[in-house]
Amino acid sequence: MQRFREGIHIRTMKAKRKVEEISKDDVQAFLKKNAFVLFTVGAVIVGIVLGFALRPYKMTYREVKYFSFPGELLMRMLQMLVLPLLISSLITGMAALDSKASGKMGMRAVIYYMTTTFIAVFIGIIIVLIIHPGKGSKDEFGKQQTIEQVSPADAFLDLIRNMFPPNLVQACTQQVMTVNDTFFNSTNGTQEVMEITREEVIPVPGQVNGVNALGLVVFSMCFGLIIGNMKEQGQLLRDFFDSLNEAIMRLVAIIMWYAPIGILFLIAGKIVEMDDLTQMGGQLGMYTITVIIGLLIHAVLILPTLYFVITRQNPFLFIAGLLQALVTALGTSSSSATLPVTFKCLEENNKIDKRITRFVLPVGATINMDGTALYEALAAIFIAQVNNMEMNFGQIITISITATAASIGAAGIPQAGLVTMVIVLTSVGLPTDDITLIIAVDWFLDRLRTTTNVLGDSIGAGIVEFLSRHELHSRDVEMGNSVLEEKERKKPYKLISQDSDFENDKHAHSESNM
Ligand code: ASP
Repeated sequence: MQRFREGIHIRTMKAKRKVEEISKDDVQAFLKKNAFVLFTVGAVIVGIVLGFALRPYKMTYREVKYFSFPGELLMRMLQMLVLPLLISSLITGMAALDSKASGKMGMRAVIYYMTTTFIAVFIGIIIVLIIHPGKGSKDEFGKQQTIEQVSPADAFLDLIRNMFPPNLVQACTQQVMTVNDTFFNSTNGTQEVMEITREEVIPVPGQVNGVNALGLVVFSMCFGLIIGNMKEQGQLLRDFFDSLNEAIMRLVAIIMWYAPIGILFLIAGKIVEMDDLTQMGGQLGMYTITVIIGLLIHAVLILPTLYFVITRQNPFLFIAGLLQALVTALGTSSSSATLPVTFKCLEENNKIDKRITRFVLPVGATINMDGTALYEALAAIFIAQVNNMEMNFGQIITISITATAASIGAAGIPQAGLVTMVIVLTSVGLPTDDITLIIAVDWFLDRLRTTTNVLGDSIGAGIVEFLSRHELHSRDVEMGNSVLEEKERKKPYKLISQDSDFENDKHAHSESNM
């Protein structure tokens, strides 16, 4: 009996030790796998604590600048990679597909971008109309500055002008922006006695600093498509851009080790620098809360639901894989600076096919900005409320259209949305100077809308990959290309057995009309 009990005891102890060992190994594996994410999330927390701890010391602007220097370095490193990454990924992404497949994929991506942007604008409008944060008085806001008016028509034409840069090298540093100029027009009267001089404000195209991402996207897509169709003749260029892309991604992997430090200082520096929080009371506080609620509804409810409905997979697992990109977006408030990290997260954690990420992500980072669209529509109506102006249905429709266009035109850089908001305000006759009313909180809201923008692009990549799986598969079978290693990877949605291939093909035909 005694031996029997001892036997049980030993077995229980062994089992316990095994469980302990497994859990230790598991924990280690988990830590190893998620080290980056843990560091980055830790950096945000430390950054916030450090920022608030340093606020009482009332640093000078110069001191804050020195303090945020490690953060500035991260921004510079990421921005350094954006240009070659954008060009090489789009060219290789397009070259890896035939024109029919990329056409279908492009169509799906555009439908996704348009649908989600309109939903975002709709949420923004509904939320601001329900909460009504503006009370019809400007007394509590600080002093206002004057902002130059831009006609919505000119802004729209600039968008199209930027798509076709006359000089590719210049497009890497500058883009077109129309400015108003006064022009004196003299007309002779019929009797040649009287000379009437008319003063006219005319738009003249000017240049502003900043990468013309739209122009480079259009060029790279066309270029990629062409070299993809050039068969052997295009092989050299395909190999070149493929290897350039790979080299840039390796650089990204190194920079990612530095990202947590950079993010820590970016966030702490911003908290030290920000105005007194008591300013956030009243209308501005309500406005901030309204924007946060709108962005949360879009990011936590709408986008995940859309992902689930289309792919039938857990959207939150997908989002968990993106955590590092989301935190980087929060830290840098630039979706284009976050692009390298978004690539890494989607390809390595979420195993999205490179042909999809290379195509969908750069385009998404340039034109798909759900957070910005939501924000612009909401902010325009808030400014109308502050001015005691009632918007009619037609004006609300105008706001939805111009907010969509403004979000497409906004660059993926910090506070770009604030600049393009002039278009939305002018379109419905709201005073553009009132943008300054919301500047005090924009640095914070910009971070949140950038995170939403990055989430929208990433979920878009997941959805487009799912919808394009059959074309990708048939392309894999058809030819070997540089991105075929992806085929080996286990896709979360690849639950389809070989036997059901016939079914899949039938499916593909019905979906191919999408
Ligand atoms: N900062 C945003 C982005 O990079 C653009 C904006 O200002 O809304 O996505």
